Amino acid sequence: MSTEHDIPRRCDVLVIGGGPAGASVAALLARQGIVVVVLEKALHPRPQVGESLIPHVWKYAELTGAAPLIEQQGFVAKAGGITVWNDKIHRIAFADFGFARPALHVERDIFDELLLKHAATQGARVFQQVSARDVRLELEQPEVCYLDRRGGASAEGTIRCRFVIDASGSAALLAGQFKSKRLIDSRMRFLSLWGRFKNSRFVGADGRGYPAGDVKKVRPVTFVTSFEDGWIWHIAMREVASIGLVINTDKARAMDKTRREHYFLRTLAAAPYMNQLLAEAEYLPDSFSQRPDYSYYSSRLCGENFYCIGDAAAFVDPIYSHGVLNAFYNASIVALAIAESLQNPAQRARHAQLCENRIRQFYGFSRSLALGEFGGDGVDEELVCRFMRQVPRVELELMLAAAFMSERSENFHRLARNAGLNLRPTQARAHAMESLLL
Ligand SMILES: Cc1cc2nc3c(=O)[nH]c(=O)nc-3n(C[C@H](O)[C@H](O)[C@H](O)COP(=O)(O)OP(=O)(O)OC[C@H]3O[C@@H](n4cnc5c(N)ncnc54)[C@H](O)[C@@H]3O)c2cc1C
Repeated sequence: MSTEHDIPRRCDVLVIGGGPAGASVAALLARQGIVVVVLEKALHPRPQVGESLIPHVWKYAELTGAAPLIEQQGFVAKAGGITVWNDKIHRIAFADFGFARPALHVERDIFDELLLKHAATQGARVFQQVSARDVRLELEQPEVCYLDRRGGASAEGTIRCRFVIDASGSAALLAGQFKSKRLIDSRMRFLSLWGRFKNSRFVGADGRGYPAGDVKKVRPVTFVTSFEDGWIWHIAMREVASIGLVINTDKARAMDKTRREHYFLRTLAAAPYMNQLLAEAEYLPDSFSQRPDYSYYSSRLCGENFYCIGDAAAFVDPIYSHGVLNAFYNASIVALAIAESLQNPAQRARHAQLCENRIRQFYGFSRSLALGEFGGDGVDEELVCRFMRQVPRVELELMLAAAFMSERSENFHRLARNAGLNLRPTQARAHAMESLLL
């Protein structure tokens, strides 16, 4: 990572946040010789949730040039997914869909640091422990005020740039400034609680349980089970398993904050199958974390001198592992728009509008998928249908099969039909199973 100390006073593009969205857009722009500065509040490796990656991410990792580094890391390759949803068991195997490369379970601290280091090797100037505080977009050249906390100091400064990219994740700095962050209606407002476990058994694609140590020999699946208040995930990684649950915020409201960890552990202990996986496992109490109050989107995403990407743009229920994919996708189109706009400033407004539509399309797509029958609410269906027509068939079929597994398929299938897509029947690919042998 860059060891330079002095933060420049000017650059072409200032990226706020060095997560997957910020690191990817920085790498893509810097590779073209554009002067990019990334300000990252934390010091990587920093903890992050969201360890399940679907195979679609590889094409974006190829674009940024990070793919070989990800391969070399030796992350766990996963075979597919198994869900126990309202007592019905379904399985999908990525092998059935013909993806050339595996899906992954990644330690996000390692994965995110790898991406940020890669951005630096591509020429981006990365400054960690420096947080953006305020963005002035009304100036001829936008100005970002920052707080530099490196070496225990606390110094303020400003940078001028031509474009600001907000990739600050759920902090959504610009949406906060614009007051444009919209929480989706209360039925879809969630709280997540999660933690790490050592020595947890995991589920293989055959529906059998395996000891933690076998994760390098037997490919795990991402295992998801519903319970009366929401759903639970189990993601086996090299040394630990990430396990968490998602419940409606209304359910959580009645719960004293200090009782949430207790609720989390009690729920896992009572959940069929999950309790078997955890019978011999050791809970790591320091790993307990939570994320309140999502799903949301920002009603203002792109303008002539700013772009909001990744979680800073929108975030919905993470059930289909679309978060990192969304970050990568947003980064790829915004990098294109900015590179074009630097060449041809007269087209800035047009490029911003095109990007805004694309980001909304993807958001609507994820939302219709993840939020099932509620997906039509507030989503521009025509935009989603247009997007669906452009998604490679193999990716769309995987999503349709996945939607079927959690009984959220109705809305998503309807949109696919409206888009005029004649897809192969997906039930055959989300195999029903009688039971699991854990
Ligand atoms: C419970 C849960 C489970 C999830 N599961 C999955 C999953 O299995 N698969 C998946 O793909 N996605 C998952 N996600 C979503 C995924 O974690 C996010 O979508 C992804 O991290 C978004 O990347 P990002 O770069 O936009 O934001 P982030 O990863 O949040 O990165 C933003 C960065 O900005 C920095 N920052 C914030 N404010 C400032 C500031 N003012 N100045 C400078 N830097 C700043 C932060 O320190 C951070 O490093 C899950 C999310 C949740 C909540």
